[in-house]
Amino acid sequence: MENLYEILQSDPGASTEQLRDSYKRLVRLYHPDKNLQTLLLSNNHETSSATENTQNADKFIIIDRAWKILSDPELRSQFDAKWHDRNLAQELPIQDEVLFEDFDYTDEEKVYLFPCRCGGYYVLSELDSQLHFDIVCCETCSLTIKVLYKSAYSEFELQKGKPVNIQKN
Ligand SMILES: [Zn+2]
Repeated sequence: MENLYEILQSDPGASTEQLRDSYKRLVRLYHPDKNLQTLLLSNNHETSSATENTQNADKFIIIDRAWKILSDPELRSQFDAKWHDRNLAQELPIQDEVLFEDFDYTDEEKVYLFPCRCGGYYVLSELDSQLHFDIVCCETCSLTIKVLYKSAYSEFELQKGKPVNIQKN
């Protein structure tokens, strides 16, 4: 789970206006279109490589996602609560790491499930997945897992309906 305040180079006490200022400043640095302009203006500039451009695009997506969550008062308070929960949960021993893609979505309950070896389930709500909540306790026993989310960039590719290669490690 990423600290969204850190991504916006801000802190939990910041007002929405302060967050917006931070966001705007970061957008100026990382917006893909700006980078493209720079690239076109300096067509023989060797350091503006394609890789660097992709990295900036990735950064922009991560920054944009943080702003979308923190600029919404409801989502922001949910994030604050989840972040607090997560800090408490970090005390627990982690049994395993599980890819978010390995969770199964259930239409009836609108949650993501992953089976625990006790016969119970690890449960993630849609909001949990949106906030990349990653320290999850089994509903039945006390086992705890860490959920690994793909990079924001792959998520972006998924949204556009492109196939994504998931690397399992
Ligand atoms: Zn269990």
